Amino acid sequence: MSQTPPHDRNGRVVTDDNLGPLLTGMARGLAMGLAITLRHFRRTLADYWRGIPGSRKSEGAVTQSPTDDGLFTVSYPEARLAVPENFRYLPVLLRDDDGSIRCTSCGICAKVCPPQCIWIVRTTGSDGKPVPEPAAFTIDVSICMSCGYCAEYCPFDAIKMDHRFELATTERWTTLLHQKDQLLVPTSYYARIHPTDYAAEEAERRAKEERDRQKAAATA
Ligand code: SF4
Ligand code: SF4
Repeated sequence: MSQTPPHDRNGRVVTDDNLGPLLTGMARGLAMGLAITLRHFRRTLADYWRGIPGSRKSEGAVTQSPTDDGLFTVSYPEARLAVPENFRYLPVLLRDDDGSIRCTSCGICAKVCPPQCIWIVRTTGSDGKPVPEPAAFTIDVSICMSCGYCAEYCPFDAIKMDHRFELATTERWTTLLHQKDQLLVPTSYYARIHPTDYAAEEAERRAKEERDRQKAAATA
């Protein structure tokens, strides 16, 4: 029975004549790969001891680019990769500096939410009339699919998408129902994680106030 002669990776038949060059090429490739590994190891070790961002000694969010040299891993949870500004996980409600809640309990977010995981109870005043503030605001975060529609459609910039994602829990029935007090965050927090959107919204708000002022002055 005839045996198939050995082939190199380019399909050429390996004979005694070309076996030597083939082994030499393989050894050269192996040496080059090991040299790259050793270079990264050396730089990683240096980064580690210097404590540069991304190394085990550093704390807080870090950014990592494909062109980074040296240490490629992030020592989570001491260090974290910074998420992009437009990253969205779960919704939060905004509370302004004066303590007021922006949400008027209009219910638009609950209507547009595709999986219907928002429930709102409007506040009722002592006179029995509705007060534009939620008495209860609940989001079932086990159902929320982070689409951001609620934030997109809210006419009062009252609900925004958060960056926090470490919300694992060992209980799935009550802890995954985020309630109003848990959902509320200061507007300054939103301004910090979404600076571009916040600046654009504030500029639009100031422009509207100016238009309203001019209109009022014109009709006075
Ligand atoms: S978060 Fe916005 S859309 Fe939802 S109820 Fe409040 S004001 Fe309306
Ligand atoms: S992000 Fe989407 S799924 Fe989650 S509460 Fe908002 S609208 Fe609903």
